[in-house]
Amino acid sequence: MTSSTSLVPIKTSKDLRLLRQDWRNPVGLVPTMGALHEGHLQLIRHAAHYAEEVVVSIFVNPTQFAANEDLESYPKSLASDIEMAQLAGATQIFAPNVTDLYPNGFSTYVVPSGPLVERWEGRSRPHFFRGVCTVVCKLFQIIQPTFAIFGQKDFQQLQVVRQMVSDLDFQIEIQAFPTVREEDGLAMSSRNSYLDSEERKVAPLLYKTLQQAAAIIQNKPKQNLEVLSQTLTSQLNAAPQIKIDYLSFVDAESLQPVSQFNGNVCLMVAAFVGNTRLIDNLLIQT
Ligand code: AMP
Repeated sequence: MTSSTSLVPIKTSKDLRLLRQDWRNPVGLVPTMGALHEGHLQLIRHAAHYAEEVVVSIFVNPTQFAANEDLESYPKSLASDIEMAQLAGATQIFAPNVTDLYPNGFSTYVVPSGPLVERWEGRSRPHFFRGVCTVVCKLFQIIQPTFAIFGQKDFQQLQVVRQMVSDLDFQIEIQAFPTVREEDGLAMSSRNSYLDSEERKVAPLLYKTLQQAAAIIQNKPKQNLEVLSQTLTSQLNAAPQIKIDYLSFVDAESLQPVSQFNGNVCLMVAAFVGNTRLIDNLLIQT
């Protein structure tokens, strides 16, 4: 459903709950932190294919940021986000304030544990998945979507949310959407706007290296992936501005490191390009 008038964002969970009573299922949810780019818009278009109501949440969630991270400087563009989301098919924008989702006295968090969160983003950003699971759980409770769409760009987040939905018995279908990239291969991200022109030039090297790894494995599926990951890490660290946080071949279900190709591997990378931390991944499957 499209209309010529601009969507008015829903600002409180109370208002959303009231409006929700009149929405017909299926209701699709696309959770975002705003600063929308083409990657987000493709998720919204996808949701609009399947749902009469497409809710885009725009909320920079403070509980998933550590004190030394970019909460304060995270890009914000609510007015243009609303316009872009609406053009892509959003029928509702939920843009609550921090105090609406986290009022004074808030003290209950959803804290994932176990092998899915022990490594990678979970190790580098120990607060991160607690914040993500808490806010996603709250959005699910408030909006009660039929399905929610998450990008494969944040592959570990997608798996952690799937696990939470299963563990906590949410009757919500989780859909994964493939990573949307710039023409030179760089995964689209709101944080790409932090890159200066030199950093922007080297950043596509991350994806090029993932592709190179996939080609190597296709040619020589039996080689040791730990050795290969070390070689690729050194290669990337030798590039100007790039500092690898982790680069690892993991089983695409369990996210545990693998040393042999098993037909369903994800190569995950996190790196600083200058001061900007970027993540990317590539599924390598037979
Ligand atoms: P964010 O606003 O960065 O929290 O992202 C909101 C949602 O959009 C998450 O499910 C992300 O995985 C997804 N997303 C972000 N960037 C991309 C991209 N380049 N391609 C596909 N999905 C993305």
